[in-house]
Amino acid sequence: MGPAALVSRTRRALIAVSAEKDPAKSSPSINRRALVRGLAGAAMPVAVALPAAAKALLAPARPEDEGFMREAIDLAARADFPFGAVIVRDGKVIGRGLNLGASLKDPTAHGEMIAIRRVLAEGNPGVLKGATLYTSGEPCAMCMGAIAWCGITRLVFAASLAQLATVIDQIMIPSAEVADKTGFATIEITGGVLASEAMKLFKR
Ligand SMILES: [Zn+2]
Repeated sequence: MGPAALVSRTRRALIAVSAEKDPAKSSPSINRRALVRGLAGAAMPVAVALPAAAKALLAPARPEDEGFMREAIDLAARADFPFGAVIVRDGKVIGRGLNLGASLKDPTAHGEMIAIRRVLAEGNPGVLKGATLYTSGEPCAMCMGAIAWCGITRLVFAASLAQLATVIDQIMIPSAEVADKTGFATIEITGGVLASEAMKLFKR
C-alpha cells in the first residue's frame, strides 16, 4: 500500500521528513526519509523544536464580549457558511467579515480572513496589532495563522472546533495549539461566548 492509499484510508496526515544527511555515515543505498504520521498520536521520530513557553493564554469572557459576538453572529447569519467575524480595537469595530467561500469561489474566504483583508486593504496593518477578533466559530489553522501574523493579540470565539466538527468538516488543530506553537506571539483566547446561538446557525 502506497502513501496515498494510506492517507485516504486513515484520513490522517502523512508527512515525509528528510533526516539530515551525513555523507560520512550514510550509504547512498539507504533511503533516510522517515514517514511520520501526524495527528495519530504516535511518537514523532523526528524532534520538532517548539517554543519553550506556552503562547496561548486562556481567559474568561469580558463584559463587552457578548455585544461584539452578537455582531459576528449576525454577520454569520448572512454568510455562505455561518462564520462571521469582527475585529475590535479600543472598543470600536475596525473590520467585519463573513464567509464568502461559495460567492467568491475562494475556499480561503473565511470570515476571519475577509475581516483581516478588509482592514489590511485600508493600508495600515499596524491597526491590527493588539486588536481583538471575534468569530462565530473557532478559527481554523489558516485563520489562526493569519491572526498571529497580523499581531492580533486576543481571540474570542463562539462555537468550539469540537462543536463545529459535529456538523461540518474541520482541520482539527485547536486555536490554542496553534498559538502555543507560535513563538513570536502571545494570544489570549476566550471560547464559548454565545456558542449555542452560533451552533443554531450551523445546524440550520
Ligand atoms: Zn478559517
